[in-house]
Amino acid sequence: MNQVVIVGAGQAGCWAAKTLRQYDYAGKVILLGEEAYPPYDRPPLSKTVLVGDAEPSSTWYLSLDELAGLGIDFRPNLKAQEIDRRACQVTLEGGASLNYDRLILTTGARPRELTVPGSVDAPIYYLRGIDDCLALRAVLRPGNRIIVVGGGLIGLEVAAAARKLGCEAVVVEVADRVLARVAGPEVSRYVTNMHRDHGVEIIAGVMPEKIESGARACRIICKDGTVVEGNAIVAGIGVIPNSELAANAGLNTEGGIWVDEFTRTEDESIHAAGDVTNHINLRLGRRVRLETWQNAQNQAIAAAKVICGREEPYTDTPWGWSDQYDCNLQMLGIPETFDEPVLRGKPEEGSFSLYYLREGKVSAMAAINAVRDVAVSRRLIAGNIAVDASRLADTAEPMKTLLAAS
Ligand code: FAD
Ligand code: NAP
Repeated sequence: MNQVVIVGAGQAGCWAAKTLRQYDYAGKVILLGEEAYPPYDRPPLSKTVLVGDAEPSSTWYLSLDELAGLGIDFRPNLKAQEIDRRACQVTLEGGASLNYDRLILTTGARPRELTVPGSVDAPIYYLRGIDDCLALRAVLRPGNRIIVVGGGLIGLEVAAAARKLGCEAVVVEVADRVLARVAGPEVSRYVTNMHRDHGVEIIAGVMPEKIESGARACRIICKDGTVVEGNAIVAGIGVIPNSELAANAGLNTEGGIWVDEFTRTEDESIHAAGDVTNHINLRLGRRVRLETWQNAQNQAIAAAKVICGREEPYTDTPWGWSDQYDCNLQMLGIPETFDEPVLRGKPEEGSFSLYYLREGKVSAMAAINAVRDVAVSRRLIAGNIAVDASRLADTAEPMKTLLAAS
């Protein structure tokens, strides 16, 4: 037998399957997905598809014909239920089973649920898949007031979409600022002001305690007594990795499925990639679980290449982006120390970058409408190049000149 089974037909699963074929894997490739759709791209679901500028089918990575043409045995509506590591076998919903030589787990993550008294009867929406997006799109009607719980990337992109569609929007965030998990305070401040300028109410530092719902309205009562009223609630309060399959098979899943820099779990015939993994990142010098598009794609490519005998460590610098209104935010690296950042550009003109330096080298940066800064910053980080903070701050100095060590 020569067979790779991939569990989870999302972004990472699709890239793993495609890459196996690209590197001439000659055996059978089976791609299992519990959803009804071919593998698709999620970012448009909180952006163009949510506001109706694009349809869900535009997000498919590959059509059914293309999957078949690549010799990928794609099986939708099918959930893997159990892994028998001794027998190298996956049991499927319904009782059938599949043998594997190599198994790739790309099961992604699911939204954390808002569970407070009253939540069961409340009109709460989540956003992860196409069906969620269509359900939410139907609610974003002019005049509705949307309560967004969670001021992370999902929450803020939904708030921007809601405003574009003529809804009122209020964001309720438990931390003392929005985007606290992914960006520094300066970015949070800029983004908060931008949303307020677009008419979004942002209430930070409050914890929803209970929900009361009527026929057409609902309200959230927070611990400090703050009451927020609206017609529907969107909860974007983080995700939980779908690591149960691996955990039940005895693999280490603390904070995601543990893999090394070659995407291997502690079982050499089982790999994992994407949102579900907790991987060793040599660049950061520690383990990390990333929830980004780049990570899903490139870690999956790395897994397939290892299976094809091309061992290259996965060492990407974390990168993610967000589009809200006409603002493009990009984040490179992880700003861990929150040192006083170096500012390049003019926030008041809506285009600037913030650089987080460690020992004179850029360890992370955030760019607001400053796409060009990102490309050079990637090279500064990858090359571990020392920079002079005053030159970095000087917009008269082209970023490229910084690539020659100062
Ligand atoms: P997923 O895409 O979640 O795919 C996992 C798949 O596995 C799912 O289809 C799931 O149903 C299936 N599955 C799970 N368990 C089983 C099982 N037992 N059997 C069979 N199938 C199973 N990132 C950015 O960098 N920029 C963005 O702008 C951005 N926007 C986003 C917007 C939205 C609305 C969302 C939800 C995410 C966004 N992301 C963005 C994050 C990015 O989309 C994810 O990091 C990426 O989708 C992760 O891919 P994945 O394949 O690991 O997981
Ligand atoms: P997130 O980034 O973890 O943000 C969730 C936010 O909600 C956090 O600030 C969190 O605060 C807060 N929160 C948690 N519990 C809360 C509660 N009970 N009440 C109020 N606030 C609460 O997750 P997300 O925004 O839900 O995004 C989900 C996934 O989609 C992530 O994987 C994300 O990467 C992905 N996504 C990415 C993009 C992008 O990259 N552009 C866009 C959309 C979605 P604490 O941290 O203090 O708990």
